[in-house]
Amino acid sequence: MGSMDSFDLPRSMRALEYTEAQKFSIVEKPLPKIREHDVLIKVKACGVCGTDLHIHDGEFGAQFPLVPGHETVGLVAAYGSQVTGFSIGDRVVADNSELCGHCHYCRRGKELFCENFIAHGVMVDGGFAEYATYPAHRVFKFKNLSDVDATLLEPAACAAHGLDKIAPQMGSKVLLFGAGPTGLMLAQLLRQNGGCHTVIAAPGGLKMELARSLDAADEYVELPRDGDTAAKRMEQLRTEHPYGFDIVVEATGSARILEKAIHFVTKGGKLVVYGVYGDEDRVSFSPNMIFKEEIHVLGSFSQTCKFPAAIDYLDRKRIKVDGIVSKTFTLDEWEACLNAMKKKLVIKAAIVFD
Ligand SMILES: [Zn+2]
Ligand SMILES: [Zn+2]
Repeated sequence: MGSMDSFDLPRSMRALEYTEAQKFSIVEKPLPKIREHDVLIKVKACGVCGTDLHIHDGEFGAQFPLVPGHETVGLVAAYGSQVTGFSIGDRVVADNSELCGHCHYCRRGKELFCENFIAHGVMVDGGFAEYATYPAHRVFKFKNLSDVDATLLEPAACAAHGLDKIAPQMGSKVLLFGAGPTGLMLAQLLRQNGGCHTVIAAPGGLKMELARSLDAADEYVELPRDGDTAAKRMEQLRTEHPYGFDIVVEATGSARILEKAIHFVTKGGKLVVYGVYGDEDRVSFSPNMIFKEEIHVLGSFSQTCKFPAAIDYLDRKRIKVDGIVSKTFTLDEWEACLNAMKKKLVIKAAIVFD
């Protein structure tokens, strides 16, 4: 297989494979091929996120047959003949995206919009298997994080990209709607990079308790799920912060909250569209408000090249993630994992291997 060095590798591996939407089983299959620039990872943990629920239903550009899993963490088990800088047994995390380098956007330095983008765990096999391969330049070493916490490096990289897009100024007041995994990491990044007062607004419960335990904000506002009570609480929040916030992040994926969020942006401030919304969702704003109050509306989607920054923050405990992965499952428990995700019984889950 052209690898310079390797563990004693087995011939085959166990993997979670979809043959089509919603049809999955645990299969025994050959180890993935190692191209000359690839690293073969013996997977220790692979994060599960909302995207995997979409993939289960055949959405999000999923191409079957497929081994999903796009937040892969493990040990270097082998590498191709052209790979340098890695040793067998290195603890690593993989960036799941492969970019072409030559399309319209790549040639202009906008690789995030690569037209020939390949996503491991979506279009080609990913990390819900005992082994997975990635190009060496998309594989990163880390030291201190547990395998399970390291699965958060992918969402942390997306949050770091969000921080770049927002480019907060010193002394910013920040309001963040939602307390999901990426929101909790983005809130901490904002707090450490210009945010002088950060408010997290979300329904009470597990995620809000976690936000507090991570010390992710300066102020926590519980927005009950019941519409009327939530509306009152939002009204009160507006009274408490009459000049609004320099940065308002909508991180729940609710178009209804996005419509409300713009009214919390101070004049000249930024509204950050940071959730995953339904394709049919629409919002209505007053264009005159955006015009007269010079409100910046900006999107932040995915990431490129932010894994090193994510590792710097998480591996040094600058950004706290303890408890964000609230439950782990084995490959055989995939059905239970899916159900727990659907019923929102977990904040974030991971599949673990021995
Ligand atoms: Zn994900
Ligand atoms: Zn490209």
